Amino acid sequence: MQRLTFNLSQDDVPDYWYNLPAKYPDFPQPRGDSSSMEVLQKVLPSEVLRLEMSRDEKVKIPEELRELYVKVGRPTPLIRANRFEELFDGWLRIYLKMESYTYSGSHKINSALAHVYFAKKDNAKFVSTETGAGQWGSAVALAGALHEVKSYVFMVRSSYNAKPYRRYMIKMYGGEVNPSPSPLTEFGRKLLEKDPNDPGTLGIAISEAVEYALKNGGKYVVGSVVNSDIMFKTVAGIEAMKQMELAGESPDAIIGVVGGGSNYGGLAFPFVGMGDKGIRYIAAGSSEIPKMTKGEYRYDYPDTAKLLPQLKMYTVGYDIKIPPIYAGGLRYHAVAPMLSLLMSKGIVEARDYSQEESFRWAKLFTEKEGYIPAPETSHALPILKELEEWAKSEGKKKSVLISFSGHGLLDLANYADVLKL
Ligand SMILES: *Cc1c(COP(=O)(O)O)cnc(C)c1O
Repeated sequence: MQRLTFNLSQDDVPDYWYNLPAKYPDFPQPRGDSSSMEVLQKVLPSEVLRLEMSRDEKVKIPEELRELYVKVGRPTPLIRANRFEELFDGWLRIYLKMESYTYSGSHKINSALAHVYFAKKDNAKFVSTETGAGQWGSAVALAGALHEVKSYVFMVRSSYNAKPYRRYMIKMYGGEVNPSPSPLTEFGRKLLEKDPNDPGTLGIAISEAVEYALKNGGKYVVGSVVNSDIMFKTVAGIEAMKQMELAGESPDAIIGVVGGGSNYGGLAFPFVGMGDKGIRYIAAGSSEIPKMTKGEYRYDYPDTAKLLPQLKMYTVGYDIKIPPIYAGGLRYHAVAPMLSLLMSKGIVEARDYSQEESFRWAKLFTEKEGYIPAPETSHALPILKELEEWAKSEGKKKSVLISFSGHGLLDLANYADVLKL
């Protein structure tokens, strides 16, 4: 029987995070006046802020955290998608890094555990954060439960209403979840005065979570985009390097999807910094928010209220109206500065795919592999057709590593709607 799974033991959970900016002295600094820098100093856990600026290539993971990584399902398996490969006439060997196997169902727990750990070290009264579809909020609530720190989640109102299940997850973990804009903050109250049914955006929810932490003695946890968050998520990529070796492969291509960039960076950055040369890196977003292919590379705000310093990134503008696509995790206006830098250097290629096309791929994948991907994850699948063409044109089979960022079991209504199930 051919080997299909490549598993590591709990002792193989990485003992360091990988910090790619260490290799790029031209990494662009955040830009802001002293008040926005002060906001960061007050609102982030002190160790997270230190790591954000750190240029050490490897950062030791505290033993207590490694144990919690094991608790929530690490190391995650690497699985060969041998039946899905049939759709590409044998030109591709496809490996899935199954971040969907963690307890929260996505890669997001990898950093949530670290942020909340460092908030607790600062004796924070609570942690606060924003969430769109709820993957990040539920990961923070899970981390809060395991570290015994209270969590407050500001959930974009349109998702709060349309996607009740992750909201229930947050509550099962003992977290508190409010629709955003909310009456808990000045910024939220101002927006609600104008429109009591304001559907909200991720940017608004970030602003609320920051304000709430600042005014009430909590710490804010960032779910993507920034260096520290991506660094915490590199446990996936460090494990995958070992697992690809077990599989006897060096990947020809590494692919994945981008909301803010931590999913893709978490898998790809250890390879970019420490892996073989000659790997193709391709990251995909949603063509409904085409920051990957139509974004401008410039300084922009990460949040709508403009509380935080500006970052240099590919962006479609912090104040753009974001359409209500179902892949909630991809509804962000910009690309992480480190990933943007790699895109600007031509190291990472960018794509955007529509919801409709991605969801059709999700159905094909599910029928072949028997596993339902998250709507976000499905946006990586159209890249494979292109890689098949590449393999054919070179007359050489290619191996592909995919970040399988999440499962779609709580998103079936979205598939039903778009695919008319
Ligand atoms: C949030 C999310 C993404 C996008 O993550 P980023 O780290 O922001 O790029 C991708 N897939 C799933 C399943 C998600 O929940």
